[in-house]
Amino acid sequence: GLLDTRVPIKSHDEIGALTQNFNSMAEQLEKNDENRLSFLADLSHDLKTPLASIKALAESLGDEESKETYQEFLGDIVTEIDRMNITVSRLLEFNKVSNISTKVNKKDFIFAFLVNETVNSMQPLADKKNISINFKGGQLKEKIFGDREKLRQMILNLLDNAIKYSEENGVVEVRLTDKRRELHLSIKDCGKGIPTKELPYLFDRFYRVDKARHKETGGTGIGLAIVKDVAQLHEGRVDVESRLETGTIFTIKLPKQGTWFKTL
Ligand code: ADP
Repeated sequence: GLLDTRVPIKSHDEIGALTQNFNSMAEQLEKNDENRLSFLADLSHDLKTPLASIKALAESLGDEESKETYQEFLGDIVTEIDRMNITVSRLLEFNKVSNISTKVNKKDFIFAFLVNETVNSMQPLADKKNISINFKGGQLKEKIFGDREKLRQMILNLLDNAIKYSEENGVVEVRLTDKRRELHLSIKDCGKGIPTKELPYLFDRFYRVDKARHKETGGTGIGLAIVKDVAQLHEGRVDVESRLETGTIFTIKLPKQGTWFKTL
């Protein structure tokens, strides 16, 4: 790999300086390569969540009697396909210009609206396991200055996990709270929980707790890495608390819109 191309610095003259430049360029290229791979992996993950929703929706269409619900489900399917379309376009773009689609598009918007939308879009998947998702805090009008699509993906990944790692008939509690300069979004499940010793690695790319045990859930260990990246992109952070056989709470803490300027 590129590491082999690194040249030892033997003098402190022009040659030494050139060598140092060469080495740091090699390092940069290597880092780009890593990022490129991880970006592609993120995109593939982004395709999986809407696919799962579409599958659930399409399956329940078969048993649907009422024309109204039928059309609502069809509408939901179209929305999910649109979402996949965006991801596929990003993938194509990425092939052309390697960093165009890592572009961040931040705007001011009411965070609760996005949470509500995202919770609704996961409902069909939750229904499959007869899991109910309760959302508290939907009335909050606080704004976030952020990238809507990236934040949507962050919430989707957490909800997807909460459903995936819960038993049937479970309850997932989503709570948005106003904490002075921050908004806190917590997603709590009553699932199998995560062993304490695993918590430090949880947000690492490709990390999965007990690979054999989770084989049937078919994840890739990227979801939480995306969650952490998106939180950091918004000067936020993610906390996790978990107890085996009891459940897990992930809490996203994001600064409200405008807080940055006020604290300067
Ligand atoms: P995956 O695609 O494997 O779900 P994630 O990065 O989303 O990847 O999660 C990493 C690992 O953390 C998962 O494999 C799972 O073992 C564990 N995990 C994530 N969320 C939960 C949860 N809500 N309850 C229990 N375990 C979880």
